[in-house]
Amino acid sequence: MLNLWGGLQCHISLVKQTQTLIREELNVTRKNIGVRMTNEERYKDYMLRGLLTSKELYMDEHPSVEVKETIAKTFMGQFNIEVDDYNDYRETYSDIPYIKSKFTKNREEGFSDIVTFYNWYKKQPQVCGYCGISQGELRELFTKDENKKLPLNGAKKRSSGTLEIERIDSSENEYNEKNCILACPLCNNAKSNLIDEDKWRELFVPGMRKYYESLLGRNLKNLKS
Ligand SMILES: [Zn+2]
Repeated sequence: MLNLWGGLQCHISLVKQTQTLIREELNVTRKNIGVRMTNEERYKDYMLRGLLTSKELYMDEHPSVEVKETIAKTFMGQFNIEVDDYNDYRETYSDIPYIKSKFTKNREEGFSDIVTFYNWYKKQPQVCGYCGISQGELRELFTKDENKKLPLNGAKKRSSGTLEIERIDSSENEYNEKNCILACPLCNNAKSNLIDEDKWRELFVPGMRKYYESLLGRNLKNLKS
């Protein structure tokens, strides 16, 4: 019994030592990254990790810094960033809050972290990965003015026409870089988990393209789906 207890204590102490080592290693890595980061990269990183929108998170990262007035001013002061540059970064990464809002719990599992997810999202062409309609063409159909074609009868659901994140193989049930593409609301909704990718492309995509072309009154910009 004593041996068992001793063994357990030893095991716990080993786990603690390992945890400390990992933590130290992480801090070193983070510091190294910190040295190499440009201010623009730092802005992107801080925004993605929510540091510029939460005083608590910012102070966690910089325990010795007192956040005065606003986090933005503290950040600019700390890293000698000019207001104009800061505003440029803000504009460049203005899509971060929107893309972050798409990073739901089940996507977190497959994409592991927000930086991977954001970089993946930004690399995606702004077209439906099935029928090829572009985000711009979708906006025309889902416009807020009198030219609005979709949704039918002015319904509110899916009223923005934004490209959605779609799992190509929904039986895999996983959101990750390989299994995801952007898709229009119609392809995403209609394919659902009832039709597989090959059959969708072969049998339904040509019809989807025709439908969109009839609503737009012209051919889709993308010649192929
Ligand atoms: Zn589509």
